[in-house]
Amino acid sequence: MAATCAIVMWVHPSAFGEPGHNARLQAPVDSGADLVKILVYRLDFERYKANIKGLTQFGDRRQGTDRNRRAIDWIEAQLQSFGCANIERLKYDYQPPNPDIRSTIANSAGGPGTPTPSGATSVGGGTPRGLRVQTGINNDPNAQPDPKLRELNAQPSAPGIREEIYCTKVGTIHPDEMYMVSAHLDGIGWGEAANDDASGTALVMELARVVSGPDVRTERSVRFIFWNNEETGLNGSSAYVEKRKDLQGQENPPGSGRYPEPKWLGVIQHDMMLFDHGMPLEDGTVSKRQRPEADINIEFQANSAFAAQSQALAWTLEQANEKYAADYPARVGSHMTNTDSNPFMNAAASISVRENERGTEIGNGWDPQWHQPTDLYATYDDKDFRLGLNAAQTTLAAIAKLAGATVARRNP
Ligand SMILES: [Zn+2]
Repeated sequence: MAATCAIVMWVHPSAFGEPGHNARLQAPVDSGADLVKILVYRLDFERYKANIKGLTQFGDRRQGTDRNRRAIDWIEAQLQSFGCANIERLKYDYQPPNPDIRSTIANSAGGPGTPTPSGATSVGGGTPRGLRVQTGINNDPNAQPDPKLRELNAQPSAPGIREEIYCTKVGTIHPDEMYMVSAHLDGIGWGEAANDDASGTALVMELARVVSGPDVRTERSVRFIFWNNEETGLNGSSAYVEKRKDLQGQENPPGSGRYPEPKWLGVIQHDMMLFDHGMPLEDGTVSKRQRPEADINIEFQANSAFAAQSQALAWTLEQANEKYAADYPARVGSHMTNTDSNPFMNAAASISVRENERGTEIGNGWDPQWHQPTDLYATYDDKDFRLGLNAAQTTLAAIAKLAGATVARRNP
């Protein structure tokens, strides 16, 4: 342990090519040091994959089941091992409005690719293009050929109390303000929900690990949140908004310097990070290989109260991607929909980070594993996993800038 005699300085990452500047931090800095790059470099491809694999041991992690609860306990143990502080759980009661609503939707994937009619509008408001195939949710156990996975996913969901989990890096200068980095831990479809959404959950875990490093500080707080009940209609994130919106920025207890719910500066949601193989072909299949021009889709919702702030946040990530993501570019769109950042969009800057646009592309059948028994860890290869890692690089670089991350450096 060579740290014994080290002199520690706190230095500030320069903001994407602009000169680093922070009047509060007077420590000498190497003029060439790019501390965002140092943080991004700490993201570990093998750890990211291992996080996904670890989540898939709980099958599809359907909400209201033991396998879902075990996944939450497992995430908590990982967060503890990372040193992510202030681990908390939000509890809420979930009573399905109609327990049969999901089981009535059969697997309707498949069939030939057909042209999207001109003038069509996707959920979220976008204009879909090109060939499309039908999508659906598999609710048939026998569609899962692996008997072990069938058994693992067999317990049905029961109404009642649900939990979701988060940990928080408390800001050193502005503990009363925070960014939220999130994904949903529950899944559906009788597979392993590897892409939807172990891929986003694993990303948030890996960011929590890096930002929780003992030599990392942030001026503003950063909360890493793992939602439950996304697949039933954003119920976990909606419960959070309902229960915590009015607590924002309140010091509690008064005079303590503690802010249980810092003011929401932005929400960055990650849901389905791996698969960008292009649009369906005429035979209704999708290419087996990641397309070389794959990109990360960052969406805000033009039709929301915080559209301007959300758009600015989206472009901050796009610029972070240009400078710090290794392989894949990012693209900004204006039709964020059907994800856990939506319940926040009229209260704070809110964006979604994904493999494809949710409305125009995933909704047109670009991801054949979506809610299917084939959403398995083994379905994806390293090119897919690297798209997810590039999204992690993008969000981490943006958060480092936005939250004012600093890294302690040793004086030689
Ligand atoms: Zn999802």
